[in-house]
This record gives sequence, C-alpha cells and structure tokens, in this order.
Amino acid sequence: MRKMIIAGNWKMNKDIKETFEFLLPLKNNLIGQNLSVEVVVCPPFTSLFVAFEILKETGIKLGAQNMFYEVEGAFTGEISPKMLKSVKCEYVILGHSERRRYFGETDEFVNRKVKRAIEFDLKPIVCVGETLEERERGDTFKVLEKQVRGVLDGLTYDEMSKVVIAYEPVWAIGTGRNATPEQAQEAQKFIRELVAGLFNRDVALNLTIQYGGSVTPENAYSLLSQPDVDGALVGGASLKVDSFLKIIKAGETALIEKRN
Ligand code: PEP
Repeated sequence: MRKMIIAGNWKMNKDIKETFEFLLPLKNNLIGQNLSVEVVVCPPFTSLFVAFEILKETGIKLGAQNMFYEVEGAFTGEISPKMLKSVKCEYVILGHSERRRYFGETDEFVNRKVKRAIEFDLKPIVCVGETLEERERGDTFKVLEKQVRGVLDGLTYDEMSKVVIAYEPVWAIGTGRNATPEQAQEAQKFIRELVAGLFNRDVALNLTIQYGGSVTPENAYSLLSQPDVDGALVGGASLKVDSFLKIIKAGETALIEKRN
C-alpha cells in the first residue's frame, strides 16, 4: 500500500532559533500519536543538523530541499548526497519549480540528481508541474509527460520504488490559488498512468504522488481525499506549527477513509 506523505518545504526560511521554536512544539504535538501518514520537514541546509538532533527517535523524517549529484570535490556552494546522509536526511526535494526557474535546472540535470540520491539511499521528492501559460494553452499533459519522462529516465523498477513525485502546478505555488481537487486528481491520475506505461502497474500503484501549491488547513482535506493524491508538499502553510499540524491531521483523516 502506498504511503501518504505530508512534507513541509521551508524554502529559505528559519534560522537556528526559529528551527527550535518550530520543531519543539511540533514534536511535542506529534509524539505518541502513532500516525499513519509520514511527516517530513525540509529545513534549509543550515538547520539540518539541529533538526536531526531534535527529531531523532520521533518518527518525523528529515528532508533537504536540494543537492548536487557529485559526491565531493570542487563545487563551491554545493551540498552532496553523502553530506545529507550524514545528518540523517531520508528525503530530498529535487527539481522544485523555484530551482528550475531561478537556477536553470533542467529535467536532464534533475534526472542525474535523482539517480545519485537513490544511490545514496535518499528518497527523492521529484517536482513536476505546468506554468499558467502552459495550462491555458492546453499543454498541461504534454508538459507533465515531458517532465516525468525526463526526470525518471533510465531508472530501474527497483529505483522507482524509492521515488516520490510532487505534482506542483507552478501557478499554484505561493500564490494562494490552489488547484481544485478535480484539477489535482486529473493531473495526478495522468502521471500515475504515465508511470504505469513507462514502468509497470505495480510501480505506479505503489508510487506516492503528492500535490503541492497553496495547500492550507482549509483546502487540505478536499485535496488529500482524492484517490490519486497521496500527500502534500507544503510551502507557506508549513512554516507555522498550527497550520502544519492541521494539514497533517487532514491527511490522516483522508488516509484512514481511503483505507476503509
Ligand atoms: C512549495 O514550496 O512546494 C509550495 C507548494 O509552496 P506553497 O505551499 O507556499 O504554495
């Protein structure tokens, strides 16, 4: 059975003090709750070690927001999969639209990172999604197909079992305008069918596909109860303990209903 994963992408937010101020109450709220959903927080690199210290033995998982595909060497400013493993990251977000837009990352570049992450036993959360212009042109599926094929190129079935896909329509990220549950379901069903064709039905059925883009406590349940929406990648609403907890709760409710 595939996992429901609620992940918080802090982006370039929270210093060490703010990391403590967020994670201590989060941990206190979730401890002993025996959740079925997987909760992941993705702080900036500078907070990963502190986050690891706070979160160990809590069941709350740690993710990074990016990494380079080389293991070590003269790559000023980059972080390697080996370094992420040393602070016990389990996940790494790759190909976020902000990386694609501001740092020129391509599907081919993201694909190299995906392969390297898996080699180091990190689970990549690979982001895909269309821009508003592409959606309005009627090109959503075409764009998603190109991105999904590109970022997953050359993966084995076994490697694919480590991958999480986040469908993040670019027009919904940080805009307060979320995709409707129907739009998310339509796109994510398309992605799952595409993966079934590229790999096989089992791989597709076990694949966690998150939705990301202006997820809030108010819209989380309706999105997460869609059959092909297996979690959320949350930006803005993951920065406050209260709203992140409500989204986790919405995921837990949706997951229990799906399993019944
Ligand atoms: C994101 O950062 O992946 C994201 C979806 O951001 P937001 O929830 O703020 O739209």
